[in-house]
Amino acid sequence: MKPAEQYRGFEQGPIRPPSEAESLLIRVTRNCPWNRCSFCPVYKNSTFSRRPIDHVLRDIDTVRMYTEAIVDSRKSGLKTLPANYNGFPLDDQQALHAAYQFVAGGMQSIFIQDGNSLIIHPDDFIRILKHLQNAFPMVKRVTSYGRSHTIARIDDHYLLQMAEAGLNRIHIGMESGSDKVLKLVNKGSDKATQILAGQKVKAAGIELSEYYMPGLGGKPLWEENASETADALNQINPDFIRLRTLALPPAAPLTRQFQEGKFIKMGDVDTARELLLFLESLEGITSTIRSDHVLNLFPEIDGTLPESGDKLQQTVRDFLVLPKEEQLLFCIGRRTHRMARLDDLTNPQLRRYTEQMRDELGATVENMDSIIDALMQRFI
Ligand code: SF4
Repeated sequence: MKPAEQYRGFEQGPIRPPSEAESLLIRVTRNCPWNRCSFCPVYKNSTFSRRPIDHVLRDIDTVRMYTEAIVDSRKSGLKTLPANYNGFPLDDQQALHAAYQFVAGGMQSIFIQDGNSLIIHPDDFIRILKHLQNAFPMVKRVTSYGRSHTIARIDDHYLLQMAEAGLNRIHIGMESGSDKVLKLVNKGSDKATQILAGQKVKAAGIELSEYYMPGLGGKPLWEENASETADALNQINPDFIRLRTLALPPAAPLTRQFQEGKFIKMGDVDTARELLLFLESLEGITSTIRSDHVLNLFPEIDGTLPESGDKLQQTVRDFLVLPKEEQLLFCIGRRTHRMARLDDLTNPQLRRYTEQMRDELGATVENMDSIIDALMQRFI
């Protein structure tokens, strides 16, 4: 029999969605139980494990104590924390850091890590949620990542119990609604499963955030990636649709396929074309679309359907009708943080900075895709 795992202190995993930047991170599992998506570098070479439930509960108790110590010491006008609080030593640096971040963010939200913690037994998940509710009654949002494949297999009554116990948002990395693309990148879910999982989350009254990855089908499948993903999302009507443009980090298996000529990646202009087709294909839904990731070309895409639909599409159309030299300038500006929005092309100072950078990089209309790929590596 395997020896029981020893508690080694408060733990946090490597990633969370950008929208959870101010959330307290509670690690329930380590890494990803699937770990085979070819575009994903995050947990490669890491083994999945479930943390013992009593360790997770202990983390929650520990960070609650640190949070109370920070709040109390501030009320008392103390500049530093005491070494002990109500007899407990305050010596866990990870917990201390997490508690400071949580207090600084206003103690509004909690994110459950890592990549697919919904894979643990639902009774255990509900126990953790209830413990969080007791420890942090002021928290308004508790969220988790979840794979469609996992969620589709959770009984509806468990999802309802999770909602009652405070789980109010699930982030699903759909990436694509195309069976061909999902198979190509080894996502381990098909379109029907993605739709079923999304509909089950919504039926349980839990907010749903779905992620779409423009560019994931490469050049041969760009239209399919756009239209099939839109079709799947039209059948789910998630609360949020979040864009995550494909990038190729060194640790992702898809990068090797690209280097071997087996995956034909699109550049920014072709990916914008796919994005426009995607936006045009969304219909009959009331989702909020967010472009809240540094890898996306158009951060200004942010609005709720149907009323903002035309405005969201217009941003991309405005880019696509620009002369090629202007498209190049905007892409370089965006990828080097000199420009944040398409309108910045009309700002003489930002244009000057970006032209300087374009010339330093030696970027031209002909070589822009490879130069931009290299720039995007810095954001991954
Ligand atoms: S399921 Fe998510 S975390 Fe796991 S390999 Fe795929 S993209 Fe990465």
